[in-house]
Amino acid sequence: MPSERQIGLRVRLLKNALGLAVFASFFFVPSASAALVVEVDYSGVAAYEAAFQSAANTWQGLLGGYQDGLIVSRSFGSTALENQVLETVRIQASVASIDGAGGTLGQAGFTEFGLDTSGYKLATDGRMQFDSADFGGLTPGQREALILHEMAHVLGFGTLWTDNGVYVNGSGEFTGVNATAVWQTEFGQSGTPDVELSGGVGTANGHWNEFDTGSNFTGITDGLGRDMTFELMTGWLNPNSFISELTLASFRDIGFATTNATAVPEPGSTLLWSVLGLAAESRRRLLKRRLAS
Ligand SMILES: [Zn+2]
Repeated sequence: MPSERQIGLRVRLLKNALGLAVFASFFFVPSASAALVVEVDYSGVAAYEAAFQSAANTWQGLLGGYQDGLIVSRSFGSTALENQVLETVRIQASVASIDGAGGTLGQAGFTEFGLDTSGYKLATDGRMQFDSADFGGLTPGQREALILHEMAHVLGFGTLWTDNGVYVNGSGEFTGVNATAVWQTEFGQSGTPDVELSGGVGTANGHWNEFDTGSNFTGITDGLGRDMTFELMTGWLNPNSFISELTLASFRDIGFATTNATAVPEPGSTLLWSVLGLAAESRRRLLKRRLAS
């Protein structure tokens, strides 16, 4: 079940396949990792722009950069350059009219990627779109948390797990070695971190697990005594959510450096997250969760 060996094998296979490019990269480019820049190209309702930049600053600070990041190949539309260390993730963000109140709240995910010399698949470009008719009905705290949450998906949380060999869909177990270490030492749990399997497409297989659709404590707490039900990257967000060391460690497992080891509190909210990849989020389910809280 632990995939350390599988990851190692995968890396070797990739390196063999890309051997020539890897050699050329090492020859011409210094290997020092650059500081991560999350660049938001925003359009739409001006009042919300600052919240996107704030979220970008938060993830920049927490993730720091990449362990490797030296790009050896990339998807066709990627803005990353081959043989250079990835520095900037570009996100096109908008809050604009989509289909009026109800229906689609929005969508978010990475759209382009690069592979680095260590074999990590990294998001290089992405997009976040929210319907202004629905977005305006949220509290500022809910909007801020929603943007942070969806930006994490753009950067790879839940969306680049299987491609990086740390999750098998349907297993409910995140097998990355860094997150597993935090799960055992800080959270006092055995085995590997539990992944949500309920909530349907967009929620299952892309978030940390919660019990009873997020309505009860999990009994699983971090070193500061905070219950996982309040974690930002669960399928259901509760008041006073925070970004845990578990989430940061999971980003280490998919290629980030995550220089900051301090979990930070985040604004409270009571939303059901279901935007994952480019799946649409249902306003109906969102409302249901808000009314139930
Ligand atoms: Zn989500």
